[in-house]
Amino acid sequence: MKPITKLQKRVVEVSKRLPKLTKTQIEWAYDNVIDHIGRRTDKGKITCTKCGHAWQGHGELISTLCEHACPHCNADLKIVTINKRVFKGSYYMTIISKCQEFQVLRTLMVNCIAKVGQLPQYTHSEVMQRWIAPDGKHCTFARLRQTMGTIYFDSWIYHTPLELRQENDVYNRIPTGVIYHKQSLTSELKRTGYKKNLFGQKPLQLFKILLTDSRAETLIKSGYSHLLERIINSGWTKIENYWASIRIAIRNKYKIEDATLWCDYIDLLRFFSKDLYNAKYVCPSDLTKDHDQYVAKKVKVDTQLEIEKHLEKEDEFRLVKEKFFGLMFSDGTINIRVLESVAEIVAEGIAMHHCVGSYYTKEDSLILSASIDGKRIETIEISISQLKVIQSRGVCNKNTDYHDQIIELVNKNIPLIQQRMIA
Ligand SMILES: [Zn+2]
Repeated sequence: MKPITKLQKRVVEVSKRLPKLTKTQIEWAYDNVIDHIGRRTDKGKITCTKCGHAWQGHGELISTLCEHACPHCNADLKIVTINKRVFKGSYYMTIISKCQEFQVLRTLMVNCIAKVGQLPQYTHSEVMQRWIAPDGKHCTFARLRQTMGTIYFDSWIYHTPLELRQENDVYNRIPTGVIYHKQSLTSELKRTGYKKNLFGQKPLQLFKILLTDSRAETLIKSGYSHLLERIINSGWTKIENYWASIRIAIRNKYKIEDATLWCDYIDLLRFFSKDLYNAKYVCPSDLTKDHDQYVAKKVKVDTQLEIEKHLEKEDEFRLVKEKFFGLMFSDGTINIRVLESVAEIVAEGIAMHHCVGSYYTKEDSLILSASIDGKRIETIEISISQLKVIQSRGVCNKNTDYHDQIIELVNKNIPLIQQRMIA
Protein backbone atom coordinates (compact mmCIF):
# COMPACT_ATOMS: atom_id res chain seq x y z
CA MET A 1 0.00 0.00 0.00
CA LYS A 2 1.07 3.59 -0.53
CA PRO A 3 2.47 5.33 2.56
CA ILE A 4 0.07 7.98 3.84
CA THR A 5 1.13 9.11 7.30
CA LYS A 6 4.38 10.88 8.06
CA LEU A 7 5.61 7.77 9.89
CA GLN A 8 4.79 5.47 6.97
CA LYS A 9 6.53 7.77 4.49
CA ARG A 10 9.61 7.93 6.68
CA VAL A 11 9.73 4.13 7.18
CA VAL A 12 9.39 3.45 3.46
CA GLU A 13 12.25 5.89 2.85
CA VAL A 14 14.50 4.45 5.56
CA SER A 15 13.71 0.84 4.63
CA LYS A 16 15.67 1.26 1.41
CA ARG A 17 18.76 1.45 3.61
CA LEU A 18 18.01 -1.71 5.61
CA PRO A 19 20.87 -4.16 4.95
CA LYS A 20 20.19 -7.64 3.59
CA LEU A 21 20.27 -10.49 6.08
CA THR A 22 23.83 -11.70 6.52
CA LYS A 23 25.14 -15.20 5.81
CA THR A 24 26.00 -15.51 9.50
CA GLN A 25 22.40 -14.76 10.50
CA ILE A 26 21.02 -17.32 8.05
CA GLU A 27 23.47 -20.01 9.12
CA TRP A 28 22.67 -19.30 12.76
CA ALA A 29 18.99 -19.78 11.91
CA TYR A 30 19.61 -23.16 10.26
CA ASP A 31 21.67 -24.25 13.26
CA ASN A 32 19.37 -23.00 15.98
CA VAL A 33 15.72 -22.98 14.99
CA ILE A 34 15.20 -26.38 13.38
CA ASP A 35 14.15 -29.44 15.35
CA HIS A 36 16.22 -32.15 13.70
CA ILE A 37 14.78 -35.66 13.66
CA GLY A 38 16.62 -38.88 14.36
CA ARG A 39 14.59 -41.34 12.33
CA ARG A 40 14.58 -44.77 13.94
CA THR A 41 13.52 -47.94 12.08
CA ASP A 42 11.73 -50.85 13.76
CA LYS A 43 15.07 -52.66 13.89
CA GLY A 44 16.63 -49.79 15.81
CA LYS A 45 18.76 -48.20 13.08
CA ILE A 46 18.84 -44.44 13.65
CA THR A 47 19.55 -41.93 10.87
CA CYS A 48 20.40 -38.31 11.65
CA THR A 49 18.37 -36.24 9.20
CA LYS A 50 20.79 -33.35 9.60
CA CYS A 51 24.09 -34.96 8.51
CA GLY A 52 22.89 -38.33 7.18
CA HIS A 53 24.95 -40.37 9.63
CA ALA A 54 23.32 -43.70 10.57
CA TRP A 55 24.04 -46.04 13.46
CA GLN A 56 22.54 -48.95 15.37
CA GLY A 57 20.77 -47.70 18.47
CA HIS A 58 19.60 -49.51 21.58
CA GLY A 59 16.02 -50.44 22.36
CA GLU A 60 13.22 -48.00 21.51
CA LEU A 61 12.71 -46.74 25.04
CA ILE A 62 16.40 -46.05 25.63
CA SER A 63 16.76 -44.43 22.20
CA THR A 64 13.74 -42.23 22.66
CA LEU A 65 14.65 -41.17 26.17
CA CYS A 66 18.45 -41.07 26.19
CA GLU A 67 20.14 -40.85 22.81
CA HIS A 68 19.65 -37.23 21.92
CA ALA A 69 22.87 -36.18 20.19
CA CYS A 70 24.08 -37.43 16.80
CA PRO A 71 27.51 -39.08 17.34
CA HIS A 72 28.73 -37.55 14.08
CA CYS A 73 27.47 -33.95 13.90
CA ASN A 74 26.42 -33.62 17.54
CA ALA A 75 22.98 -32.22 16.54
CA ASP A 76 20.31 -32.47 19.21
CA LEU A 77 17.92 -35.03 17.76
CA LYS A 78 14.34 -35.88 18.45
CA ILE A 79 14.22 -39.67 17.99
CA VAL A 80 11.06 -40.98 16.30
CA THR A 81 10.37 -44.56 15.29
CA ILE A 82 8.53 -44.25 12.02
CA ASN A 83 8.45 -45.60 8.46
CA LYS A 84 8.26 -42.17 6.93
CA ARG A 85 11.38 -41.03 5.03
CA VAL A 86 10.61 -37.36 4.42
CA PHE A 87 10.30 -34.78 7.17
CA LYS A 88 9.17 -31.20 6.62
CA GLY A 89 9.23 -28.42 9.15
CA SER A 90 8.67 -24.65 9.26
CA TYR A 91 10.10 -22.42 11.95
CA TYR A 92 10.19 -18.75 12.85
CA MET A 93 13.11 -16.65 13.94
CA THR A 94 13.16 -12.95 14.80
CA ILE A 95 16.13 -10.63 14.61
CA ILE A 96 16.00 -7.56 16.83
CA SER A 97 17.92 -4.90 14.92
CA LYS A 98 17.87 -1.17 14.25
CA CYS A 99 17.87 1.03 11.18
CA GLN A 100 18.32 4.76 11.61
CA GLU A 101 15.99 5.87 14.42
CA PHE A 102 13.84 2.72 14.18
CA GLN A 103 13.90 -0.49 16.16
CA VAL A 104 13.22 -3.17 13.54
CA LEU A 105 11.92 -6.66 14.27
CA ARG A 106 12.76 -8.87 11.29
CA THR A 107 10.89 -12.16 11.25
CA LEU A 108 12.07 -15.03 9.05
CA MET A 109 10.40 -18.26 8.16
CA VAL A 110 12.83 -21.13 7.86
CA ASN A 111 11.78 -24.29 6.05
CA CYS A 112 13.54 -27.61 6.19
CA ILE A 113 12.94 -30.71 4.10
CA ALA A 114 14.90 -33.69 5.36
CA LYS A 115 14.94 -36.97 3.41
CA VAL A 116 16.57 -40.10 4.81
CA GLY A 117 19.63 -40.80 2.65
CA GLN A 118 20.04 -37.20 1.50
CA LEU A 119 21.29 -34.02 3.09
CA PRO A 120 18.47 -31.73 4.25
CA GLN A 121 17.40 -28.77 2.16
CA TYR A 122 16.91 -25.45 3.87
CA THR A 123 15.14 -22.39 2.58
CA HIS A 124 14.26 -19.14 4.28
CA SER A 125 12.29 -16.03 3.64
CA GLU A 126 12.01 -12.80 5.56
CA VAL A 127 8.23 -12.54 5.86
CA MET A 128 7.56 -9.64 8.20
CA GLN A 129 9.18 -6.50 9.62
CA ARG A 130 7.82 -4.36 12.44
CA TRP A 131 9.24 -0.86 12.38
CA ILE A 132 9.02 0.81 15.80
CA ALA A 133 9.63 4.55 16.06
CA PRO A 134 11.22 6.12 19.16
CA ASP A 135 7.75 7.22 20.35
CA GLY A 136 6.45 3.61 20.25
CA LYS A 137 4.32 4.03 17.12
CA HIS A 138 4.88 1.31 14.58
CA CYS A 139 4.09 0.10 11.09
CA THR A 140 4.46 -3.25 9.42
CA PHE A 141 6.04 -4.62 6.27
CA ALA A 142 4.97 -8.10 5.21
CA ARG A 143 4.57 -10.47 2.33
CA LEU A 144 1.06 -11.44 1.29
CA ARG A 145 -0.57 -14.50 2.80
CA GLN A 146 -2.73 -17.16 1.20
CA THR A 147 -6.13 -16.64 2.80
CA MET A 148 -8.39 -18.75 0.57
CA GLY A 149 -8.82 -22.46 1.17
CA THR A 150 -6.42 -22.72 4.05
CA ILE A 151 -6.92 -22.93 7.79
CA TYR A 152 -3.51 -21.37 8.41
CA PHE A 153 -3.15 -17.62 8.83
CA ASP A 154 0.53 -17.71 7.92
CA SER A 155 0.67 -19.42 4.53
CA TRP A 156 3.10 -16.86 3.15
CA ILE A 157 3.25 -16.29 -0.59
CA TYR A 158 7.00 -16.03 -0.90
CA HIS A 159 7.17 -14.35 -4.28
CA THR A 160 5.10 -11.34 -3.17
CA PRO A 161 7.05 -8.27 -2.06
CA LEU A 162 7.89 -7.48 1.55
CA GLU A 163 6.30 -4.05 1.69
CA LEU A 164 4.16 -1.71 3.77
CA ARG A 165 0.81 -3.31 4.65
CA GLN A 166 -2.32 -2.19 6.46
CA GLU A 167 -2.06 -3.12 10.15
CA ASN A 168 -3.82 -6.40 10.85
CA ASP A 169 -4.13 -8.33 14.11
CA VAL A 170 -2.77 -11.38 12.28
CA TYR A 171 0.67 -9.79 12.38
CA ASN A 172 0.50 -9.79 16.18
CA ARG A 173 -0.38 -13.49 16.15
CA ILE A 174 2.59 -14.53 14.00
CA PRO A 175 4.96 -16.39 16.32
CA THR A 176 8.20 -14.62 17.17
CA GLY A 177 10.02 -17.96 17.20
CA VAL A 178 13.63 -18.09 18.31
CA ILE A 179 15.22 -14.68 18.96
CA TYR A 180 18.56 -14.18 17.21
CA HIS A 181 21.31 -14.16 19.85
CA LYS A 182 22.66 -10.71 18.92
CA GLN A 183 20.38 -7.70 19.34
CA SER A 184 21.12 -4.14 18.33
CA LEU A 185 19.07 -1.51 20.10
CA THR A 186 18.18 2.11 19.51
CA SER A 187 19.41 4.53 22.16
CA GLU A 188 15.79 5.20 23.21
CA LEU A 189 15.22 1.54 23.98
CA LYS A 190 18.58 1.18 25.74
CA ARG A 191 17.67 4.11 27.97
CA THR A 192 14.59 2.27 29.27
CA GLY A 193 16.79 -0.29 30.99
CA TYR A 194 15.89 -3.08 28.57
CA LYS A 195 18.67 -5.68 28.78
CA LYS A 196 17.67 -8.23 26.12
CA ASN A 197 15.30 -10.05 28.48
CA LEU A 198 11.83 -10.11 26.94
CA PHE A 199 10.10 -11.30 30.16
CA GLY A 200 8.08 -13.81 28.15
CA GLN A 201 6.53 -11.05 26.00
CA LYS A 202 6.52 -10.53 22.28
CA PRO A 203 9.14 -7.89 21.46
CA LEU A 204 6.72 -5.44 19.77
CA GLN A 205 4.40 -5.40 22.77
CA LEU A 206 7.19 -5.01 25.31
CA PHE A 207 9.02 -2.31 23.33
CA LYS A 208 5.87 -0.26 22.79
CA ILE A 209 5.19 -0.29 26.54
CA LEU A 210 8.80 0.54 27.39
CA LEU A 211 8.88 3.41 24.88
CA THR A 212 5.57 4.96 25.86
CA ASP A 213 5.20 4.44 29.61
CA SER A 214 7.99 5.48 31.95
CA ARG A 215 6.42 3.36 34.70
CA ALA A 216 7.67 0.23 32.89
CA GLU A 217 11.15 1.70 32.88
CA THR A 218 10.88 2.47 36.61
CA LEU A 219 9.88 -1.14 37.33
CA ILE A 220 12.91 -2.53 35.48
CA LYS A 221 15.32 -0.07 37.04
CA SER A 222 13.97 -0.68 40.56
CA GLY A 223 14.50 -4.43 40.18
CA TYR A 224 10.78 -5.16 39.85
CA SER A 225 10.96 -6.89 36.47
CA HIS A 226 8.86 -9.81 37.77
CA LEU A 227 6.16 -7.30 38.61
CA LEU A 228 6.47 -5.83 35.10
CA GLU A 229 6.03 -9.30 33.63
CA ARG A 230 3.07 -10.11 35.87
CA ILE A 231 1.26 -6.86 35.00
CA ILE A 232 1.87 -7.13 31.25
CA ASN A 233 0.54 -10.69 31.41
CA SER A 234 -2.72 -9.47 32.89
CA GLY A 235 -2.97 -6.48 30.52
CA TRP A 236 -0.72 -3.46 30.98
CA THR A 237 -3.62 -1.07 31.73
CA LYS A 238 -3.89 -2.87 35.12
CA ILE A 239 -0.80 -0.89 36.15
CA GLU A 240 -3.29 1.78 37.25
CA ASN A 241 -4.47 -0.56 40.04
CA TYR A 242 -1.00 -1.01 41.49
CA TRP A 243 1.04 2.05 40.68
CA ALA A 244 0.34 4.02 43.88
CA SER A 245 1.33 1.01 45.99
CA ILE A 246 4.36 0.24 43.83
CA ARG A 247 5.71 3.74 44.49
CA ILE A 248 5.36 3.16 48.24
CA ALA A 249 7.13 -0.20 47.86
CA ILE A 250 9.98 1.39 45.91
CA ARG A 251 10.38 4.18 48.47
CA ASN A 252 10.57 1.57 51.25
CA LYS A 253 12.96 -0.64 49.25
CA TYR A 254 10.45 -3.43 49.75
CA LYS A 255 11.45 -6.73 48.16
CA ILE A 256 8.65 -8.43 46.25
CA GLU A 257 9.50 -12.13 46.01
CA ASP A 258 6.23 -13.27 44.48
CA ALA A 259 4.74 -10.68 42.11
CA THR A 260 1.52 -12.62 41.53
CA LEU A 261 0.86 -13.02 45.24
CA TRP A 262 1.60 -9.35 45.90
CA CYS A 263 -0.76 -8.11 43.15
CA ASP A 264 -3.43 -10.45 44.49
CA TYR A 265 -2.83 -9.04 47.96
CA ILE A 266 -3.13 -5.43 46.73
CA ASP A 267 -6.44 -6.36 45.05
CA LEU A 268 -7.66 -7.68 48.42
CA LEU A 269 -6.54 -4.54 50.22
CA ARG A 270 -8.52 -2.49 47.70
CA PHE A 271 -11.57 -4.69 48.20
CA PHE A 272 -11.44 -4.03 51.93
CA SER A 273 -10.82 -0.29 51.36
CA LYS A 274 -7.40 -0.32 53.02
CA ASP A 275 -4.99 2.56 52.47
CA LEU A 276 -3.01 1.64 49.35
CA TYR A 277 -0.53 4.47 50.07
CA ASN A 278 0.35 3.12 53.50
CA ALA A 279 3.52 1.03 53.83
CA LYS A 280 1.98 -0.75 56.82
CA TYR A 281 -0.40 -2.47 54.41
CA VAL A 282 1.52 -2.34 51.14
CA CYS A 283 4.83 -3.73 52.46
CA PRO A 284 3.90 -6.59 54.83
CA SER A 285 6.75 -8.45 56.50
CA ASP A 286 4.98 -11.76 55.96
CA LEU A 287 3.16 -11.41 52.64
CA THR A 288 1.85 -14.98 52.51
CA LYS A 289 0.36 -14.79 56.01
CA ASP A 290 -1.35 -11.43 55.44
CA HIS A 291 -2.54 -12.48 52.00
CA ASP A 292 -4.09 -15.68 53.36
CA GLN A 293 -5.84 -13.78 56.14
CA TYR A 294 -7.51 -11.46 53.66
CA VAL A 295 -8.44 -14.40 51.42
CA ALA A 296 -10.21 -16.06 54.38
CA LYS A 297 -12.02 -12.79 55.12
CA LYS A 298 -13.04 -12.46 51.49
CA VAL A 299 -14.48 -15.99 51.44
CA LYS A 300 -16.75 -15.05 54.37
CA VAL A 301 -17.96 -11.92 52.61
CA ASP A 302 -18.56 -13.81 49.38
CA THR A 303 -20.58 -16.48 51.23
CA GLN A 304 -22.76 -13.82 52.83
CA LEU A 305 -23.32 -12.14 49.45
CA GLU A 306 -24.18 -15.53 47.96
CA ILE A 307 -26.82 -16.11 50.65
CA GLU A 308 -28.27 -12.63 50.13
CA LYS A 309 -28.48 -13.25 46.40
CA HIS A 310 -30.45 -16.44 47.09
CA LEU A 311 -32.76 -14.67 49.50
CA GLU A 312 -34.01 -12.36 46.75
CA LYS A 313 -35.74 -15.44 45.37
CA GLU A 314 -37.71 -16.11 48.57
CA ASP A 315 -41.09 -14.84 47.31
CA GLU A 316 -40.86 -16.78 44.09
CA PHE A 317 -39.98 -19.94 46.00
CA ARG A 318 -42.87 -19.51 48.44
CA LEU A 319 -45.36 -19.13 45.61
CA VAL A 320 -44.34 -22.42 43.96
CA LYS A 321 -43.69 -24.62 47.01
CA GLU A 322 -46.05 -23.22 49.63
CA LYS A 323 -48.55 -26.05 49.28
CA PHE A 324 -45.98 -28.51 50.68
CA PHE A 325 -45.12 -26.43 53.76
CA GLY A 326 -45.79 -28.07 57.12
CA LEU A 327 -45.39 -31.56 55.71
CA MET A 328 -43.55 -33.89 58.12
CA PHE A 329 -43.42 -37.53 59.03
CA SER A 330 -41.55 -39.81 61.43
CA ASP A 331 -40.95 -43.46 62.24
CA GLY A 332 -40.24 -42.68 65.86
CA THR A 333 -36.45 -42.29 65.33
CA ILE A 334 -36.05 -40.34 62.14
CA ASN A 335 -37.97 -37.11 61.59
CA ILE A 336 -38.39 -35.82 58.07
CA ARG A 337 -39.74 -32.40 57.15
CA VAL A 338 -40.05 -30.21 54.07
CA LEU A 339 -37.65 -27.25 54.02
CA GLU A 340 -39.83 -24.16 53.83
CA SER A 341 -37.64 -21.33 52.59
CA VAL A 342 -34.66 -20.51 50.44
CA ALA A 343 -32.81 -19.52 53.62
CA GLU A 344 -33.46 -22.96 55.11
CA ILE A 345 -32.25 -24.74 51.98
CA VAL A 346 -29.10 -22.61 51.69
CA ALA A 347 -28.36 -23.19 55.40
CA GLU A 348 -28.85 -26.93 54.90
CA GLY A 349 -26.39 -26.91 52.01
CA ILE A 350 -23.78 -25.05 54.05
CA ALA A 351 -24.23 -27.29 57.12
CA MET A 352 -24.12 -30.50 55.08
CA HIS A 353 -21.33 -29.37 52.72
CA HIS A 354 -23.20 -30.36 49.61
CA CYS A 355 -24.72 -28.48 46.72
CA VAL A 356 -28.38 -28.59 47.76
CA GLY A 357 -28.15 -24.87 48.52
CA SER A 358 -28.86 -24.04 44.90
CA TYR A 359 -31.67 -26.57 44.46
CA TYR A 360 -34.47 -24.19 45.41
CA THR A 361 -34.47 -23.00 41.80
CA LYS A 362 -35.44 -26.47 40.58
CA GLU A 363 -39.14 -26.20 40.03
CA ASP A 364 -39.77 -29.95 40.07
CA SER A 365 -37.79 -30.60 43.27
CA LEU A 366 -39.03 -30.79 46.79
CA ILE A 367 -36.25 -30.64 49.39
CA LEU A 368 -36.67 -32.39 52.74
CA SER A 369 -34.36 -32.75 55.70
CA ALA A 370 -34.04 -35.93 57.76
CA SER A 371 -32.89 -35.55 61.37
CA ILE A 372 -32.56 -37.52 64.57
CA ASP A 373 -33.02 -35.62 67.86
CA GLY A 374 -32.67 -32.34 65.95
CA LYS A 375 -29.36 -33.32 64.31
CA ARG A 376 -29.28 -33.27 60.48
CA ILE A 377 -28.66 -36.73 58.97
CA GLU A 378 -29.45 -36.57 55.25
CA THR A 379 -31.03 -34.19 52.74
CA ILE A 380 -33.63 -35.63 50.40
CA GLU A 381 -34.62 -34.44 46.94
CA ILE A 382 -37.95 -35.61 45.56
CA SER A 383 -39.18 -35.18 42.00
CA ILE A 384 -42.66 -33.68 42.33
CA SER A 385 -43.84 -34.81 38.89
CA GLN A 386 -42.49 -38.36 39.29
CA LEU A 387 -43.29 -38.61 43.01
CA LYS A 388 -40.08 -40.40 43.78
CA VAL A 389 -36.78 -39.86 45.58
CA ILE A 390 -34.04 -38.59 43.26
CA GLN A 391 -31.34 -38.55 45.89
CA SER A 392 -30.69 -38.56 49.59
CA ARG A 393 -27.29 -37.43 50.81
CA GLY A 394 -25.50 -37.00 54.10
CA VAL A 395 -22.58 -34.70 54.93
CA CYS A 396 -20.30 -34.14 51.92
CA ASN A 397 -22.63 -36.15 49.70
CA LYS A 398 -22.01 -39.40 51.60
CA ASN A 399 -24.73 -41.87 52.53
CA THR A 400 -25.28 -42.61 56.22
CA ASP A 401 -26.19 -45.81 58.09
CA TYR A 402 -29.78 -44.54 58.07
CA HIS A 403 -29.89 -44.13 54.29
CA ASP A 404 -32.15 -47.11 53.45
CA GLN A 405 -34.38 -46.43 56.42
CA ILE A 406 -34.81 -42.80 55.27
CA ILE A 407 -35.69 -43.80 51.69
CA GLU A 408 -38.20 -46.33 52.96
CA LEU A 409 -39.82 -43.79 55.26
CA VAL A 410 -40.13 -41.24 52.43
CA ASN A 411 -41.56 -43.80 50.00
CA LYS A 412 -44.16 -44.84 52.56
CA ASN A 413 -45.28 -41.22 52.87
CA ILE A 414 -45.36 -40.29 49.19
CA PRO A 415 -49.20 -40.29 49.29
CA LEU A 416 -49.02 -37.34 51.74
CA ILE A 417 -47.14 -35.33 49.12
CA GLN A 418 -49.59 -36.41 46.43
CA GLN A 419 -52.50 -35.18 48.57
CA ARG A 420 -50.92 -31.72 48.83
CA MET A 421 -50.65 -31.56 45.04
CA ILE A 422 -54.31 -32.18 44.51
CA ALA A 423 -55.40 -29.84 47.26
ZN1 LIG B 1 24.23 -35.87 12.46
